[in-house]
Amino acid sequence: MAQACAAGTTIGALLCEGGAVLRAAGVEDARREARLLLGLALGRDAASLIAAARDPVAEADAARFRALLRRRAAREPFAHIAGRRGFWTLELAVSPAVLVPRPETETLIEAALALRPDRTAVRRIADLGTGSGALLLAALSEYPGAIGVGVDRSLAALAVARRNALATGLAARALFVQADWSSALAPASIDLLLCNPPYVPTGEIALLAPEVRDHEPRAALDGGADGMAAYRALLPDLSRVLALGGVAILEVGAGQAEAVAGLGAASGLAVLEMRQDLGGIPRALAFGNAEKGVGAPAGSD
Ligand code: GLN
Repeated sequence: MAQACAAGTTIGALLCEGGAVLRAAGVEDARREARLLLGLALGRDAASLIAAARDPVAEADAARFRALLRRRAAREPFAHIAGRRGFWTLELAVSPAVLVPRPETETLIEAALALRPDRTAVRRIADLGTGSGALLLAALSEYPGAIGVGVDRSLAALAVARRNALATGLAARALFVQADWSSALAPASIDLLLCNPPYVPTGEIALLAPEVRDHEPRAALDGGADGMAAYRALLPDLSRVLALGGVAILEVGAGQAEAVAGLGAASGLAVLEMRQDLGGIPRALAFGNAEKGVGAPAGSD
């Protein structure tokens, strides 16, 4: 496997070996991932390794790299090995207790900022199924006058979210509650509600990449037989918790936007915006209360 790589323990030789090992394991972008893992093992910026191919690597460091390589070759997510992942402008801790924050989920923050550009107008935020806290903390970072509550059914997830609130300096404005969806929230109490529910149809979970299928929490992925179970459970209560002029922004899976919009309409919610992710997939669906002040910014009465 590694025969074509240079002999000796240099950065270049290890990158070559790592690329070959990961390629053989079916990891996409194997060479880049090998570089990231070597960066982790050496405690160095991965980009700096490109120009350092001839630098020697100590045996202990090479052994540490090969241990990380074995984990990644077993298709453990890179974010789990690193223990962190970037989301929006934040660097967040992750663990197997939470879904690894994904770039497409940032579409919900873009939608929030597009609909509520006045950074002082949003004062109360909720994130249902907060997981790592990614959506709540990104929103709090953009709305400096807001407080927010992250809700999850999993205490283990809430512990990760709380740790992230502390590490990002947002803990003074973030509360965490163990509950089902919006059941713990008071009526008309939320200006901006965010939610990335599980939406993968149960039968499709087996078809996901091993990193997701075997290492990420099933409860954060499994949307029931048709992928819509969580939307059916959570949408009917949203008009109760939205304040006057409040907005609820939900992530949807590929091809689900219309069906979720329909469920929202049946619960008194009107679609304010549908926003596509970078892959062109309708990903963020923003709702306002159909009965009270659709689209009016909070505080404008
Ligand atoms: N987008 C996730 C995936 O790829 C699914 C996340 C979810 O169900 N909310 O697998």
